Amino acid sequence: MESIIGALLIGGICGLGPVIVGALKKRMGLGIGGFFACLLSGLILGILLAGPICGVFIWLIIKKSDTDESINTKQCPYCAEKILVDAKLCKHCNRELIKKCPICGEEISIKAKVCKHCKHQISESSNL
Ligand SMILES: [Zn+2]
Ligand SMILES: [Zn+2]
Repeated sequence: MESIIGALLIGGICGLGPVIVGALKKRMGLGIGGFFACLLSGLILGILLAGPICGVFIWLIIKKSDTDESINTKQCPYCAEKILVDAKLCKHCNRELIKKCPICGEEISIKAKVCKHCKHQISESSNL
């Protein structure tokens, strides 16, 4: 009986890994799933299975968040929060992320050194 409780404990401790990572990545569903998977495997084979399964779920959560978010998001140059690639205004700090090229008037990234439309070199002083 004690070995079962011990195994459950090990599975639970290992399962907390995915839960914490899932909470950090705002993917609690997968984290909770990992927790129960580790709890169950902990019951069956202790750390032999719970450890690797814990790792698999953490990997899944990290991998999923990478593919989900990094494609459509970028970092705001002002507040470093994640925002949509197409965003013209940061939803976190409300600062504009695009500016108008002084030569052709097209919208370009606030960080752009060269206008992608007319190839005009944007000087740092024209940022403000
Ligand atoms: Zn921002
Ligand atoms: Zn231009």
